[in-house]
Amino acid sequence: MSKINMVEAPAGVEGSGFFATSFDKVIGMARANSLWPLPFATSCCGIEFMATMASHYDISRFGSERPSFSPRQADLLMVMGTIAKKMGPIVKQVYQQMAEPRWVMAVGACACSGGIFDSYSVLQGIDRVVPVDVYVPGCPPRPEQIIEGLMKVQELARNESLRRRNSDEYKQLLESYKIG
Ligand code: SF4
Repeated sequence: MSKINMVEAPAGVEGSGFFATSFDKVIGMARANSLWPLPFATSCCGIEFMATMASHYDISRFGSERPSFSPRQADLLMVMGTIAKKMGPIVKQVYQQMAEPRWVMAVGACACSGGIFDSYSVLQGIDRVVPVDVYVPGCPPRPEQIIEGLMKVQELARNESLRRRNSDEYKQLLESYKIG
């Protein structure tokens, strides 16, 4: 029989018949356990993502079994593979079509830094076009590493202030990428 683990309740105050916590902790818990990934896979690292989705590693254990191929119903952009410079504007467009809050994971050496392709045609890291929250190293990274990256994004989502996206610091970050 399979064992189902329940997500821990956020810190709060409890007593007989009541439990009180703050709004941002509840929202953070819900967001962290229902991240919908948009897999932007262009090459070999995408195969590792397929393994991460499949039954052996089973990303649904983290509430992320629903890959979205529409940016409007996704909150985690996972870029996996070599990104040619010509593809850079497309990655940016996909990011811009996602609603806030959104997170980005660069999966594998190519997405992180261009990897072994230090050439005229390859983007030397997707952080040249969009802000990245988590970098997963490796060529390719194993599914365990991709899952660890997902857990890091969960940590960010869980602990992020509800007001962060309205902060001047965040607006400046987007402006530095010329994202309105
Ligand atoms: S990091 Fe390695 S495995 Fe991943 S896309 Fe690049 S060359 Fe392929």
